[in-house]
Formats: sequence, C-alpha cells, structure tokens
Amino acid sequence: MKIAFFSTKPYDREFFEKENEKYGFELHFFETHLGPHIVNAIENEDAVCVFVNDKLNRNVIEILAKKGVKYIALRCAGFNNVDLEAAKDFDIQVCRVPAYSPEAVAEHAMAMLLTLNRKTHKAYNRVREQNFSLNGLLGFNLYQKKIGVVGTGKIGKAFVKIALGFGAEVIAYDLYPDETLINLGVKYVALETLFMESDIISLHCPLTADNHYLINKESIDKMKYGVTIINTSRGNLINTNDAIQALKTKKIGLLGIDVYEQEEKLFFKDLSATIIDDDTIQLLLSFPNVLVTAHQAFFTEEALEQISQRTLKSIDDLIKKGTTDPEVLL
Ligand code: NAD
Repeated sequence: MKIAFFSTKPYDREFFEKENEKYGFELHFFETHLGPHIVNAIENEDAVCVFVNDKLNRNVIEILAKKGVKYIALRCAGFNNVDLEAAKDFDIQVCRVPAYSPEAVAEHAMAMLLTLNRKTHKAYNRVREQNFSLNGLLGFNLYQKKIGVVGTGKIGKAFVKIALGFGAEVIAYDLYPDETLINLGVKYVALETLFMESDIISLHCPLTADNHYLINKESIDKMKYGVTIINTSRGNLINTNDAIQALKTKKIGLLGIDVYEQEEKLFFKDLSATIIDDDTIQLLLSFPNVLVTAHQAFFTEEALEQISQRTLKSIDDLIKKGTTDPEVLL
C-alpha cells in the first residue's frame, strides 16, 4: 500500500511515520500542493493524503484515477477543495478527519485573549531589552467579565468551560442550545443581545451561507465600546475592512484572529523575504491591539496524533473492509 502525502511539513512526516509503525504502509512525502501542476508526475500510488489547500478538481481526480489511485484521505475536517461528485464518478473513496482535539482550538482562543489583554507578547520583548517599566501593559480581569460565545459545539463548549474556570459570566448563541452548558450556568441569548452585552466575543461556529460577515459594521455598531473579539473559526465570519474601521475608532479594543479572509495566499508559508501584496493584512499587523496567528489553533501534539491515527485507520479500514465510520467517509 503506497500513500503519497501532499502539502507536507516536517511535523506531518514525524507524526505519520510514527503512527505508520502499526501499519507498515509505504509513505511518500511531497512539500508541494496537489493540483494540476503535479498530478501527472504521480506514479504507483494507491492513495493520496491531502490538506486544506490542495486542489482536487475533476481534472485532477480523473488523472488520479487513471494512475490507479483508489483513495483520497483528507487530513482535515473541511472538504470544499475536493470534487466529491468526480471522486464518485471515478470510483475513488474519500475520507476525512471530522474532529480532532477541540481543546487545542479552545485553549488557543483563550491564549489569544490572555496575550492581547495582559500583553505578555510585549512584556517578553520589553524585559529582554532591560525595560522593566509597566507603562502600556495595563490589562483587565477576566473574572466577572461577560464573555459571549457564538457556537457551542465541540470547540465552543471546551472554550466555555475554560472561561467559566476564570470566573467569567458566559452568555452564548447557538441554533441548538446545549443542556449541559445551561446546567453549568451558561445563558443562551439572541445574537443581538450577545453583541450588545458582551465584553468579549469568541467565535466558534462554522462558516455557512447565512453567517458570512457575521461581524460587520452593523453588528459592531451594536457592541460595547472597546469590545474584544477573538476568531479562531473561519476568516469570512469577519468583514476585515469593517473591523479595521472599528479598530481605528477604538470601538473594537482588542482583536485576535487565527483565521483571515485571504489566508490561503499567506498562511503556512514563510514569506519573510517577500513583499506581501495584501494591504489589509499589512494594516492589521500595524495595530498594537491586534494579534494574528496563522491558523495554528489546532496545532498541538494531541491534535496531530489524532489526525495521523484517524487518517491511517481510515485507509486501513477502506482496504480491509471497503468502508469506515460513516462520519469519516464522504
Ligand atoms: P461543531 O460542529 O462541533 O460545532 C459548531 C456549532 O456551531 C454547533 O453547535 C452548531 O449548532 C453551531 N452553529 C452552526 N451555525 C451557527 C450559526 N450560524 N450561529 C451560531 N452557531 C452556529 O464544530 P467545532 O468542531 O466546534 O468547530 C467549530 C469551527 O471551528 C469549525 O467550523 C471551524 O471553522 C473552526 N476550526 C478552526 C480550527 C483552527 O485551527 N483555527 C480548527 C478546527 C476547527
């Protein structure tokens, strides 16, 4: 069984090679994305393992099928980059990793909130230059603040529990309120109420056709002056230009984003020697009260272990049984 991995980084190799000791598959790692530019070079592979920015359109899938590829394994949850109809037409089975360590993302959201608020990133640099002054480092307690959580699924729920641990008051909005959270003291409110009352807003809902630009001028206008917004969910939940205007008027006091509207051109790449042709991200990066991380919220040892375990198990199931768990199969 030969599997070609695309868009790989050293950490993918490390975790998959370790997990593969159980299976003994032949793994081939490529740094390049999978797409029309490279698909013809594939020879003698039974499966391809791909990530969020690999492009598997009908043309690519047709060539994969001609080359004998039987399985496409996504090592992520989202699958908008794969033409599933084409995979079906060419008899290729597709699987994914629907969930992995929600705590990884929830803990990163809290890390962003604490960093922005207590300015540990600034203090770190400051003391290294022997500047021990506290001017400009003033933060606020999370204790008794009102935190509004949009989306209380796996990640939102983990975030709520962390926030409750800080003694914050948590209000939430979800299409399907969670009884266990209500029992923990969380109050579900209308989205508008959440916008109006929250000191801090953390987004944990998926991006859907209905909530594109959930955070825009109109919703920001309803928020408290100096509100903190944290987005570890999807870039298109925030209209970045509206957020920039609100940062300028200080309506938004702190903004932490792990995801960004135009992230596919930037994230997961070292562009340190490049002139970046994206004025919006450049402007955002110039604000002292904005923290940007490059889609790293999932990036923990536990999450990478779970991704490699689930992916190789799915491929093994597909070979041996012809199927695997329904939530994994696409
Ligand atoms: P989940 O499916 O367990 O939970 C999503 C919740 O959002 C559900 O309770 C659902 O009812 C609710 N929801 C759906 N539409 C909504 C809306 N319009 N308004 C409010 N709530 C709504 O998903 P999850 O595992 O908790 O993941 C949440 C999101 O986190 C994912 O969709 C993804 O965008 C993001 N994510 C980010 C990273 C990262 O590294 N930054 C990693 C994994 C997931």
